[in-house]
Amino acid sequence: MSTDQSVERSLFDDVMVPCYSPMEMIPVKGQGSRLWDQGGNEYIDFAGGIAVSCLGHCHPVMVDALTKQANKIWHLSNVMTNEPALRLAKKLTELSFAEKVFFANSGAEANEAALKLARRWAADNYGNEKTEVIAFYQGFHGRTFFTVSVGGQASYSDGFGPKPGDITHLPYNDVEALKAHISDKTCAVMMEPLQGEGGIITPTDEFAKTVRELCDKHNALLIFDEVQTGNGRTGDFYAYQGLGITPDILSTAKSLGGGIPIGAMLTTTKLAQHFKVGVHGSTYGGNPLACAVAEAVIGEISKPSVLDGIKERESIFRECLTRLNEKYHVFSEIRGKGLLLGAVMSEKYEGKARDILVAAGKQGLLVLVAGANVVRFTPSLVISKEDIQEGFARLEKAIAEFVA
Ligand SMILES: *Cc1c(COP(=O)(O)O)cnc(C)c1O
Repeated sequence: MSTDQSVERSLFDDVMVPCYSPMEMIPVKGQGSRLWDQGGNEYIDFAGGIAVSCLGHCHPVMVDALTKQANKIWHLSNVMTNEPALRLAKKLTELSFAEKVFFANSGAEANEAALKLARRWAADNYGNEKTEVIAFYQGFHGRTFFTVSVGGQASYSDGFGPKPGDITHLPYNDVEALKAHISDKTCAVMMEPLQGEGGIITPTDEFAKTVRELCDKHNALLIFDEVQTGNGRTGDFYAYQGLGITPDILSTAKSLGGGIPIGAMLTTTKLAQHFKVGVHGSTYGGNPLACAVAEAVIGEISKPSVLDGIKERESIFRECLTRLNEKYHVFSEIRGKGLLLGAVMSEKYEGKARDILVAAGKQGLLVLVAGANVVRFTPSLVISKEDIQEGFARLEKAIAEFVA
């Protein structure tokens, strides 16, 4: 193992824009669900790069796709199309309701495309009156100015001057609020089919059903942001498939690339026609290198054995968390779906999720938080059972220290 100490964490503060506050250790190698830092310390990875590393680190299928494509062609721009992009788009249409795909490089960009398409569709069909975008508090849709303004956290969107207009936020899971507010002036409703960053909040069946019905009633488009929930994360290939309703536009990123930056907006032929030549674009979007890796990733994830394995791993996670909690009483609830799980801090430890993250890090376990009150788990979808057991052994040590 290389223990190159020539680059130190302190360099971050010297040369990086201070919008992040990274951990002290710097990982230099990953394999499966294990990571090693510069000092050779090992970590079990229950964070998965925030729901991105869906096949773990350096999965042979990804390494193979990347190296093969790296020796063929990396980049062309959209002046030409390419084989990996076409194959990936075909696969995505086979795996979802979608008939058409637009490639981007991130979740925010996929959402930006979704929102612009909805606005353009409404402008083309209904003139200038139908521009309202309804979204939900605690929702997260990325950090471009349009997407962060549609996101439901004012702390992320305030302080940058005038925002894109006609965006309304309503409480998630509040059927009555939506009924009272939505109108024929609503152009789109944008939601996560399970709020991730906002605290791992599942929609009620009634809410999901009502959102679809009200969108139909008022000719509004339903946009599902599946950047976090997509590509097997919840046990279905896309989370909408488990909810029994179908969106008009779906955005996907994170696990789509398994670690290579890529995003996509999926939609129908009827809607896609509003993005005529020149209306929208991206230099890198649909880049052959990224698409070749994503093609390999979703080929692997969409196997029934992998999707079934996610449900099995969810049960193990839930059992382990419940068993730990019977001993330490730190959580009030375990929630979420598939391998997008949240452990909510109990009243006594309200707002202390980050302390668990820090204590776990010291024991060699990486976890995430979702807000101040939820410890979030988004591991590799193929994490081994030994790694799960070892991770929970470390989590127990962390929690024992936390409550002491
Ligand atoms: C992470 C995330 C995004 C933003 O994705 P980026 O790749 O960071 O732009 C958007 N929506 C949801 C639901 C996410 O979880």
